[in-house]
Amino acid sequence: MTDFRYLVVGGGMVADAAARGIRELDTEGSIGILSEEPDRPYARPALSKKLWTDPDFSWDEKVDLHTEETGATFLLGTAVTAIDRQAKTVTTADGQTHGYERLLLATGGRPRGLPGLEPSERVLDYRSATDYRRLRELADAGAHVAVVGGGYIGTEIASGVVQNGARVTLVDPDEIVGGRMFPEDLAKAFQQRFVDHGVQLRLGRRVERGTEHEGGVTLTLDDGSTVEADAVVVGLGIEPATQLAADAGLT
Ligand SMILES: Cc1cc2nc3c(=O)[nH]c(=O)nc-3n(C[C@H](O)[C@H](O)[C@H](O)COP(=O)(O)OP(=O)(O)OC[C@H]3O[C@@H](n4cnc5c(N)ncnc54)[C@H](O)[C@@H]3O)c2cc1C
Repeated sequence: MTDFRYLVVGGGMVADAAARGIRELDTEGSIGILSEEPDRPYARPALSKKLWTDPDFSWDEKVDLHTEETGATFLLGTAVTAIDRQAKTVTTADGQTHGYERLLLATGGRPRGLPGLEPSERVLDYRSATDYRRLRELADAGAHVAVVGGGYIGTEIASGVVQNGARVTLVDPDEIVGGRMFPEDLAKAFQQRFVDHGVQLRLGRRVERGTEHEGGVTLTLDDGSTVEADAVVVGLGIEPATQLAADAGLT
């Protein structure tokens, strides 16, 4: 069992900010960061933006937040499964126990998936650096990527991927791309940029179901039509990851 004065569950941008904030007040207390992800905290917004549009945007300089500067200990690829508030310990999926004086839950959110389609090498609920790396491989291979959801993440990914030489089909229930985000004139101009760059638009349509098969994914839309793609990116928003807190009796 390892004990930390400050233990953070979750390794996102909040974990980074917390470690830096702690160090402003306590230069010596031990900080542990337990994260499911294999990467140290990084600037998540870059995954759908500059990493696709700026070849000089390097992971080490611009994306990695270098939280190690705080002296925090990272336990990566480590999911916390339970909190014992009496004993002041957490348990991880691999059966380890870690004690704490102060505990911060920074578990963020989990992406909503598509019914019937589990995340896989071809089904990316786009949230993590692992998803970015996989999508980059697919885009570099000139794959046909179906993007479901025309919100920020969906439109950013569609733009990024099509600019890198892959084929993109964007499916969204709105009649105009960006219709929920922008006034109509602006949304029309926004949409035209996608058309000009060759993005296939399937608007006014919802995905009813998806099926992964060898070599690809088939999406069935609510008019019965289908989209055949090498991979699908699901951009349908997130749900707060509150189960761990709820299981520990926290409201
Ligand atoms: C592609 C993309 C682009 C974005 N662009 C923008 C933008 O332009 N502007 C903006 O304001 N926001 C943007 N966001 C949202 C922003 O990145 C998030 O709001 C922010 O990263 C949330 O940080 P967080 O640390 O609270 O949570 P998260 O980033 O969700 O991090 C939570 C971490 O906790 C881990 N975790 C969860 N449960 C456990 C557990 N039980 N045990 C261990 N680890 C656990 C997760 O694996 C994850 O590493 C974007 C998000 C994405 C995915």
